[in-house]
Amino acid sequence: LLQSRLWSRSNSTEASLAKDDSANEGKNGPGFKGHSMLAPFTAGWQTTDLHPLVIEKSEGSYVYDTNGKKYLDALAGLWATALGGSESRLVDAAMAQFKKLPFYHSFWNRTTLPSLELAKELLEMFTARKMAKAFFVNSGSEANDTQVKLVWYYNNALGRPDKKKFIARAKSYHGSTLIAASLSGLPALHQKFDLPAPFVLHTDCPHYWRHHLPGETEEEFSTRLANNLEQLILKEGPDTIAAFIAEPVMGAGGVIPPPSTYFEKVQAVVKKYDILFIADEVICAFGRVGTMFGCDKYNIKPDLVSLAKALSSSYLPIGAVLVSPEIAEVIHTQSNKLGAFSHGFTYSGHPVSCAVAIEALKIYKERNIVDQVNKISPRFQEGLKAYSDSPIIGEIRGTGLILGTEFTDNKSPNDPFPPEWGVGAYFGARCQKFGMLVRVAGDNIMMSPPYIISPEEVDTLIRIYGEALKETEKRVQ
Ligand code: PLP
Repeated sequence: LLQSRLWSRSNSTEASLAKDDSANEGKNGPGFKGHSMLAPFTAGWQTTDLHPLVIEKSEGSYVYDTNGKKYLDALAGLWATALGGSESRLVDAAMAQFKKLPFYHSFWNRTTLPSLELAKELLEMFTARKMAKAFFVNSGSEANDTQVKLVWYYNNALGRPDKKKFIARAKSYHGSTLIAASLSGLPALHQKFDLPAPFVLHTDCPHYWRHHLPGETEEEFSTRLANNLEQLILKEGPDTIAAFIAEPVMGAGGVIPPPSTYFEKVQAVVKKYDILFIADEVICAFGRVGTMFGCDKYNIKPDLVSLAKALSSSYLPIGAVLVSPEIAEVIHTQSNKLGAFSHGFTYSGHPVSCAVAIEALKIYKERNIVDQVNKISPRFQEGLKAYSDSPIIGEIRGTGLILGTEFTDNKSPNDPFPPEWGVGAYFGARCQKFGMLVRVAGDNIMMSPPYIISPEEVDTLIRIYGEALKETEKRVQ
């Protein structure tokens, strides 16, 4: 059936992208094609054959390119600008701090007021369980690299030098530094980078639609995955496994909310073997999934938490690691023995980033951001899920203001479209043409609009999605 369909080379996604690209000439044109940046997560041909999309300005839920074309930013940058592109309070907070103290560090018990205040505020806000300390970093990747070092330091302090392995999950995304990329369960992050590091193991991706057995309920699926996790721990030896890391809702792996009872069962397993639980909340935290933290939604009691992105609505780079009282106490004691906890970055707790983050958290509280997300998200979720009947859509899934679409043939997880068709890329390019930016990864499409998106803007988002879908359907049929 697939072969009988028309999808000629001249009709290829790449050719159609090139055609769309002619619209990018204008000011994006001659100077930038074949530009000088080694561009992150970009293929070589893209920079030489196509113009980059150069974003020049933002306003609320929209961004504008250098030709003045307006796009609904349906991914909030990179799941990041929770308060949209023109929150002047964040800019004012940055300016005020710039004028007072543009930089000072936090080494050797010297620090700044904004970093102290932000740490206190974060510990008060995180209520899924009591946390004792916040360690500041500049990104989600640095947060997760820091997690590994904290856990190793902790186990060394406890005289457990063999308890060092990490278990992450297939399809997870934890960042792209050496260790964060190792923890990630996406093959592209490992291929030709000599990764993952040998101390990282991966267990099942908790994607019910794709991986459940015939007749298996969500609960049974979760039980099976928890059993598989336990088998992996027993095979490796529980005394060698230090920590388990998970995103409450998987993001870059295709937006995969956990199946029913999953976290309850997985937490029971790791607890049984004295394995730490790390919640990677880099995408989920601060309202994205309809609760202040993903841990609140799924009743997760983590030992460590990674934060970034919406922490400052991404106006400046900042991330944080929240540390449980038990771990903080061990680190405190151990560092007394060694003379210092020798880990940190020049920009750990950068005062301007902290000032912006403090203001972002203030706004989340004042505007009751969780209620705001819960008010707008049914329109977003239901409006898009109404397209689930499309013959080229396998599954649409999501919660709160995060949603993934997976294109497959015959509505089956086992019938992917040939990758050379570039179905996802074509859909993404149509969205862009019609004035909306989404994330494309193979035949997965991901969206996570800013929390400030209005009902009318959600309707626009749904309309553009529908138009792009119609055109994509036409090409595939
Ligand atoms: N963890 C998760 C869950 C993420 O989604 C990301 C980035 O998308 C990261 C970590 C890495 O964050 P960064 O790109 O700030 O290093």
